[in-house]
Amino acid sequence: MSTINGRDSLCAMPPEELNARLKLAPAFRGRQLFQWIHQRQTFDFQQMSNLPAELREKLAENYGSALSSEIVQSQSDSDGTVKVMIRLADGKKIESVLLNDEHGRRTACLSSQVGCALACRFCKTGTMGLLRNLSAGEIVEQYYHLSLRYGRIDNIVFMGMGEPLQNLAALRRAIEIFQNPQGLHMSPRRITVSTSGIVSGIRQLAAEGPPVRLAVSLISADPKLRRDLMPVAGLVALEELQQALLDYQRAHGKRITLEYVLFHRKNSRPADVEALVDFVRPLNVLVNLIPWNRVAELDFQEPGAREIDDFAEKLTQAGIRLSRRYRRGRGIDGACGQLAAPQ
Ligand code: SAH
Ligand code: SF4
Repeated sequence: MSTINGRDSLCAMPPEELNARLKLAPAFRGRQLFQWIHQRQTFDFQQMSNLPAELREKLAENYGSALSSEIVQSQSDSDGTVKVMIRLADGKKIESVLLNDEHGRRTACLSSQVGCALACRFCKTGTMGLLRNLSAGEIVEQYYHLSLRYGRIDNIVFMGMGEPLQNLAALRRAIEIFQNPQGLHMSPRRITVSTSGIVSGIRQLAAEGPPVRLAVSLISADPKLRRDLMPVAGLVALEELQQALLDYQRAHGKRITLEYVLFHRKNSRPADVEALVDFVRPLNVLVNLIPWNRVAELDFQEPGAREIDDFAEKLTQAGIRLSRRYRRGRGIDGACGQLAAPQ
């Protein structure tokens, strides 16, 4: 275990910052260290063979390892999904998931906060409240824990614990590390940020980058129902959210995903279809239909297969482009909205 706290994790520092913080000279040392971490995924300083022995010693003494967190538990589902619990340097715990889809694509589902302040009624993480934000390093380290243990990762989605746009500074820093040409050099197309619809954050991300794909948890396009399900929706009118998405699309030209969690007999009435059609009309979006995953203490019911098919059919008939999320990771409570770690 490393002796550093997450805030100072070396995993979130670009080469120039490594030079400055560690007083490295000559300047190419920062780049070498960065490449060991992000290209070779080596976190043991002693293995960084092109660094002088003295520097390796010093780093090992001060930091232990380049990782500030560690996996304390892991679970695999029969569908290939794995979930890990990670202990942060201050003892707090988060969960991260690696999903294997039907096309063989491997997607890391990363957390952005310990808990979440937004208390959506249907979400397990929402029952925890917000304990704290993750640092950029703690976000980046989740990726490496998954890749060290399970191998190749194709995509990153910020759909784990927390609301990424309420931790925007750390989120952006972490994404810049993932996209750094001297490191993983991930394409913006392979990184998706999912938000409950924080308009100021969407606008800031659009204006200042880094470029990513955007997913928005719409859940319902009926203002009253949306407010009932997501208290945060009371702060922003749906028209305002729609306008922010239009502006985002204009700036980036990329298709946005709208996540629609489907409950038994709640948001699949004819009026819900109408409201959704109105909401998406001016937008270029794909609606991702997610059957609600059970959370024992929450008072919702899973939709039946027939109910899901019917709703999907109605949306398709109304001209809405649709994708259906397969229910992965449910055997280990690692599916969407089921993440929470006892602290
Ligand atoms: N806070 C962000 C990202 C994390 S939640 C957001 O809300 O978008 C990731 C996704 O899981 C969201 O689309 C959310 O609506 C969905 N979700 C939450 N609880 C769920 C549950 N019990 N079943 C299925 N999806 C759920
Ligand atoms: Fe937070 Fe997203 Fe869960 Fe809502 S759905 S409580 S925003 S993690």
